Amino acid sequence: MIKSMAVLTALVPALLSTTVGVASAQSAPHATAAVVTLTYDTGDAGQWAGAIDQAAQNWNDVLHNVRLEPASTPGSADYVYEATSGWPQSTLGPIFPGGNGDVQLGQQAVDEGYDTIRIAAHETGHILGLLDDYSGPCSEIMSGHGPGTSCTNATPDAAEAAQVDRNYAAGTRAVLPRHHQVVIDIWSGRVPTGSR
Ligand SMILES: [Zn+2]
Repeated sequence: MIKSMAVLTALVPALLSTTVGVASAQSAPHATAAVVTLTYDTGDAGQWAGAIDQAAQNWNDVLHNVRLEPASTPGSADYVYEATSGWPQSTLGPIFPGGNGDVQLGQQAVDEGYDTIRIAAHETGHILGLLDDYSGPCSEIMSGHGPGTSCTNATPDAAEAAQVDRNYAAGTRAVLPRHHQVVIDIWSGRVPTGSR
């Protein structure tokens, strides 16, 4: 009796997946979802403030399910930008309202010749839950330093925008949180040798 029940329960999910799988995979990401608003603070971002606002605008222009806005009061932001002297790095999201993401905009990448708006847009991509794709083309934001310093594109491509919209489609966190995971980006075309 117990054995036959086990066989039945194993069969049911398999049957369901064959009948509903196609329909659910094609559902539009932005049809009915409420827009998630994420607020950011640039109080410690110094000379990066203009690049940050432009990067946020570029993301807002292509996203449907999440919107980036400056925080109305310091300390209330869901994530913060700060200027540092090292390499850029960011909390790996997707960050949701009430979160505490941190983007460090490192001067070392600027010294290497990389575009400040592209850097800000890339690190913001991590806040939105995107991973690095250094081997990707300049048309991607998450290719980062990969295409070299001549690449100043700061607009996400359609696939990147679609992935972020999927990350926020449910309006709340749909995947398990990745606590305190930080992505550090070495914006350099040089190959580290380990010696000097
Ligand atoms: Zn990165």
